[in-house]
Amino acid sequence: MKTIREVLTDGTSFLRNSNTANETPFLDVLILLAYTLNISKEVLLASYPDKIEEKDENIFNNFLEKRIYGYPVSYIVNTKEFYGLNFYVDENVLIPRPDSETLVEEAITILKEFPTKKKILDLCTGSGALAIALKHSLPELNVICSDLSAEAVEVCKKNCISILGEELLIIEADLFSTIKWKFDMIITNPPYLTDIETDLMMKKNWPEPGMALRAGEDGLDFIRRIITDSPDYMEKNAYLLIESSIDQTESIKLLLDSGKFYNTRIVKDLSGRNRVTIGQRV
Ligand code: GLN
Repeated sequence: MKTIREVLTDGTSFLRNSNTANETPFLDVLILLAYTLNISKEVLLASYPDKIEEKDENIFNNFLEKRIYGYPVSYIVNTKEFYGLNFYVDENVLIPRPDSETLVEEAITILKEFPTKKKILDLCTGSGALAIALKHSLPELNVICSDLSAEAVEVCKKNCISILGEELLIIEADLFSTIKWKFDMIITNPPYLTDIETDLMMKKNWPEPGMALRAGEDGLDFIRRIITDSPDYMEKNAYLLIESSIDQTESIKLLLDSGKFYNTRIVKDLSGRNRVTIGQRV
């Protein structure tokens, strides 16, 4: 029987020496072993000398096998931490990225400055990461989510219950198709990859849902629709916050500037890259 220390060290070298690009081998191994043993990472780190049972080592080795083929840790353990909260994730939803915390931070800053703005819509919510993080920080908000995927809606419901202890209103809809209200803020992390980028990921059997990524030739298909349609669902001076890839933000700002928006600006993420474009409804 190996000790926990040995399993962690061997597992880390196994991932480090595999051909798959793996930037965080020790962290991955730590998460996978803690999940196998059903204990926290902290308890695991305090248990270095303990022996690990063979059946657990086999389960853990199966996880490592998946990982060397590039399968995301978050899908193996069905969890991803976002904004300090633990979200359930599976192949029906995009795995929340730290990049998206920029949008949440910015939304919170605006909403704290204007406390009368309370009606929020999260379009293309997926796991519910943006909506739930926002509601968790500012419980007085009235947050509604929508997503085209019935499976994503189920994941989002699950996260509402486990994180917030209550369900938010979640609508299964193609963008605004069944939305009947006007909001003070619309937030969205819609699909924004180009067809070429999405095809490359699908060719590598990337397990995230293509429908959460693919957005046409320039990746702006959904964002263009959102900018065109959203003014009908926004109160005067309401905010629209859109996440996108770095090289799309200037085009998005131009689209906002040529529509019914003012005060448009681009917000950078923690790595200093353009990430969120914001405008206010005239
Ligand atoms: N940020 C994601 C990626 O780079 C894309 C997310 C999206 O299209 N909404 O894979």
